[in-house]
Amino acid sequence: MRSLTIIASYRDLPLAELAKSKLESEGIPCFLLNKNIIALNWLYSTALGGVELQVRTEDVENALKILKDDHSSDLLDIENEFPEPEQGDLCTNCGSSNIRLIKVSRKYGALSLLLSFPLILFGKKYQCKDCGYKMN
Ligand SMILES: [Zn+2]
Repeated sequence: MRSLTIIASYRDLPLAELAKSKLESEGIPCFLLNKNIIALNWLYSTALGGVELQVRTEDVENALKILKDDHSSDLLDIENEFPEPEQGDLCTNCGSSNIRLIKVSRKYGALSLLLSFPLILFGKKYQCKDCGYKMN
């Protein structure tokens, strides 16, 4: 008979779902306990001990290793995924062409998602690498 072991508990459902999908993507079957009751009323989470993540006992060691894997260094590359400024864009302060996109406005990002229309194009901010001046 196979037995199940609780390897983690999460106060919030999204974190529990994230851990579950991480394990499932590595081929480890797992289950979330208390998921439905906490989805109905988040305030029960503390009383129930959170959303508990269960795996088969033989998968415990492997599952814990997968959950501990740190991929935060992958985030360092994200800045480089912003599109480079278009040819001809110049710093309005010093005239340098050495500028980069630093920020896409969250407000326009949220509106873009809501309206399914790329308003995000209007919320860009650039910074001059030479003088540090920030511009829209
Ligand atoms: Zn400049």
